[in-house]
Amino acid sequence: MHEMSIAMAVVCQVEEAALTHDAVGVEAVTLRVGELAGVVPEALRFSFGLACEGTVLAGAELLTEHVRGRARCTSCAAEWATGMPPRLCCEQCGDSRTELLSGRELQIATVRWATGSRRALALEEL
Ligand SMILES: [Zn+2]
Repeated sequence: MHEMSIAMAVVCQVEEAALTHDAVGVEAVTLRVGELAGVVPEALRFSFGLACEGTVLAGAELLTEHVRGRARCTSCAAEWATGMPPRLCCEQCGDSRTELLSGRELQIATVRWATGSRRALALEEL
């Protein structure tokens, strides 16, 4: 399952970052997902929930930022939204030598670390 391997890669990257941030938990992870990345958001959210179990990310929410596919014609420089399935021929001149400007993104945009440390919680409990 494509989404499961993506979710595991995301969890792995955030776990590494958590170590350097000395984080006690993660509230949310925002992923930038391109329209043409071939990812099913619901499947990704489900896989992410499973991949988070037993890690510092347990209970974290997965948010996605949708990035529209855009292409540019290398002949006449026209730009257009590709849509899905993508239209990759120029609408102006019909040329198929086009350049994809965006839409293949699949990256971590932001991580919201859980606030408060274990130490603060322990003091309150006393
Ligand atoms: Zn063109």
